[in-house]
Amino acid sequence: MKTLIKCGKLFTAKDGSVLENAAILIEGNTITGVFQAGEVSEDGCEVIDLSGRFVMPGLIDTHLHTAYDGKPGCMDSQINALAGDFAFMSMVNAKKDLLAGFTTVRDEGSYGFVDVSLRNAINAGIVEGPRMVVSGRPLGTTGGHSDSHLNPDIYGATTMGLISDGVDGAIRNARYTLKYGADQIKLMATGGVMSIGDEPGAPDFTYEEMKAAIDVANSRGKLSSAHAHGAVGIKNAVRAGITSIEHGMLMDEECMDMMAEHGTYLVPTIVAAYNIVKNGDSLPKEAVEKAKLCLENHGRNLELCRKKGVKIAFGTDAGTYFNFHGLQACEFGLMQRYGKFGVAESLLAATKTASEMLRMDGRVGTIEAGKLADITAFCESPFDDISTMERCVFVMKDGVVYKNQ
Ligand SMILES: [Zn+2]
Repeated sequence: MKTLIKCGKLFTAKDGSVLENAAILIEGNTITGVFQAGEVSEDGCEVIDLSGRFVMPGLIDTHLHTAYDGKPGCMDSQINALAGDFAFMSMVNAKKDLLAGFTTVRDEGSYGFVDVSLRNAINAGIVEGPRMVVSGRPLGTTGGHSDSHLNPDIYGATTMGLISDGVDGAIRNARYTLKYGADQIKLMATGGVMSIGDEPGAPDFTYEEMKAAIDVANSRGKLSSAHAHGAVGIKNAVRAGITSIEHGMLMDEECMDMMAEHGTYLVPTIVAAYNIVKNGDSLPKEAVEKAKLCLENHGRNLELCRKKGVKIAFGTDAGTYFNFHGLQACEFGLMQRYGKFGVAESLLAATKTASEMLRMDGRVGTIEAGKLADITAFCESPFDDISTMERCVFVMKDGVVYKNQ
């Protein structure tokens, strides 16, 4: 079956330009061409009229957590919840992401491998959701970002993560995670904001531990990512060959130079720190102070990263406290406000660049012949009002329409 989408404005994400009055031709689930309206016959096509809309590729959120819903305490609930509870929660959250325009997402850490099961269920057509790249259980260290309890009767982490001390521990848990179907190894390279008792600036893993885990990922052709705020942890992860640095809120200039040189991606997740600061009254004081420090540094650093040529992919950490699924597109506005990103630059970070980082650029990320038909639309042009990205009105994934308002 052929589908023709008429576009008032079209951002293909091949570059930063906007085409006027274009048309996208789709056969089955694949884009077969982009034309000027009137250049292509409508005969035999189902026509979708988005001539009053701004059309672009499906968005890609490269950092979120489907197992968590953004309610305060949701990440601490693992001690009292079953894997099935998280599975249902993940299914609902993933659908919200899809309907907000995110047709591809990377889950940066889940519970009980429910992200793997959800990815498989979506791919099999059992439930509706975005195309998923998943981490399974992240690897962390004793007392690090994953290890958030002081109960002597519990061994291991109660929040997401596998305690992986030493080179042998890192190798074993990297293999274990891949055995259960993860697409990548996620490492907690430094302390975090919401984890009480650790320091975002301090390294958790050693270089040797990270190198061992990343080597396992590389040997299987998988991605790797590191939750990392402080400079030492970032440098260790970059030298060890990590695909992406997540957050990176306390980096120094040497980190930026190394990332540019190694081609390491940065996923800024500004909205995660922003929401913790904004809703500070109801959260632990220690966490809010850490978030404030991170956010102040982040604005300055992001501008410098861009000047130095660090590749930046869009990601939000949706699911963390007050950072709700389906509402994460406010990150586009925050990229402008804190990092002085241009509009086209932020849209490319959530399409072309994100697809390259996930090594999916042969299939998604741009609107051009041969790519899968992942297409979104917005009422206005984000070049006039970036907040329009928070009001997605059309979603097609894999040639199937999930939303058309
Ligand atoms: Zn995260």
